[in-house]
Amino acid sequence: MNSDSPQAAGPPPFEIFEAVYRRHGHRCPMSTLGVRLGYAARQLFQSQGGSPGLLAFFSPRTCAVDGIELTTGCSREAGTLVVGSAGHHALTLGEKDAETAIEVSLSAKALAMAGEYRQLSQALVQARPGLCEDELAAREKEREAFLDRLLERLRTLDDEELLNLKDVQVDPALWPPREDCHA
Ligand SMILES: [Zn+2]
Repeated sequence: MNSDSPQAAGPPPFEIFEAVYRRHGHRCPMSTLGVRLGYAARQLFQSQGGSPGLLAFFSPRTCAVDGIELTTGCSREAGTLVVGSAGHHALTLGEKDAETAIEVSLSAKALAMAGEYRQLSQALVQARPGLCEDELAAREKEREAFLDRLLERLRTLDDEELLNLKDVQVDPALWPPREDCHA
């Protein structure tokens, strides 16, 4: 194994997901994946002795942001996390003033798994007007069972299956403005 490449961490403990779901207000694939992104990126800095001054960039704006804030300690409020409007579901985390950072992005497999649930939800929204109460209850139960199985997998699959990690050069245009940071 190449010791210069970022090394993936194991899955986060369940309590972190519970905390994110409470804060986020619902359980969903993207908030779950936000935890995976942030936890994996943060672990890489902890294994290097930790860093009090981390800055983060994530794009696009999705439910993942809550999971990222809770696991990285960077936040929009503190000015240490900037959220972009377009991108490939990639979190960049780096030390203040460093020229390189870690980029953790969602794998095609992770995006496909999240997309499956979105399609199922949208299909139910479309079918809803034509369903009687019992049918609707049955379909909603089915969707919840699907979500339970999906979230379990998104919480526990190996990082290698869900995430892509690489070292990147910091793009000063995207990075949080340093003078505004209190990290
Ligand atoms: Zn959500």
